Amino acid sequence: MPPIVRRHPPAPVLVAIDGPAGAGKSTVAARLAARLGVPHIDTGAMYRAVALLALRDGLTPPLEGGAEARIGELMAAHSLDVEVGPEGTRVLIDGEEVSRELRSADCSLMASAVSALPAVRCALVPMQRRLGELHGGVMEGRDIGTVVLPDATLKVFLTASPEERARRRHRDLGGCGADTSLDAVREQQRQRDLQDTMRAESPLQVATGSVVVDTTGLELEEVVERLLGEVARVLDGGA
Ligand code: C5P
Repeated sequence: MPPIVRRHPPAPVLVAIDGPAGAGKSTVAARLAARLGVPHIDTGAMYRAVALLALRDGLTPPLEGGAEARIGELMAAHSLDVEVGPEGTRVLIDGEEVSRELRSADCSLMASAVSALPAVRCALVPMQRRLGELHGGVMEGRDIGTVVLPDATLKVFLTASPEERARRRHRDLGGCGADTSLDAVREQQRQRDLQDTMRAESPLQVATGSVVVDTTGLELEEVVERLLGEVARVLDGGA
């Protein structure tokens, strides 16, 4: 009798992309996910959703002691649904689609504040892992390679010069929002980068084994082709 060969379906491709605000993570992650045929999972949108709950409750950054407990209550009182697909991440609070509202400058700063709270990370990280386990994906954030998916197929750290990052974010905001002058965007980005890299809980760091790509002056397709090459190399058993 021939030996029984058990064929396991290949593990889904998981790409972890981390980096500071404006490094091009979302654009690159969306394009890469489409090319790989896997969902694009934007974990920043989940921190932004918690930030929106806090803003709607009247909280403002910097958060004072007591805010963590209040935010925990808000998360328990509201439903947070995340739908991911090749076209991106949709976030619904109590069934209401809030994806657009999450992009405001106020929400960006509040997201950076709430994401430093252990209670918030403890609630969101398991959701993120489950989303990745379901169908694989290209997951972007600040701690994906270090904490959420340390065994991802490929770990990437995207960066770019502060000036270029501010210009991109300014262009993406398209003049909508309160103070969206280039100087204001640059200053907000500086504050967020500082908070995200200095916090005690899961700070932004280059994960061990990451491919570091500086996207300054690079076209989107150049970055995506480079990363597709890296995924192919790893799947082929490359070091
Ligand atoms: O990526 P995005 O700019 O939308 O993220 C908003 C904020 O959420 C970041 O400034 C960061 O503080 C937080 N964040 C995080 N960990 C992640 C994703 C986002 O702390 N995995």
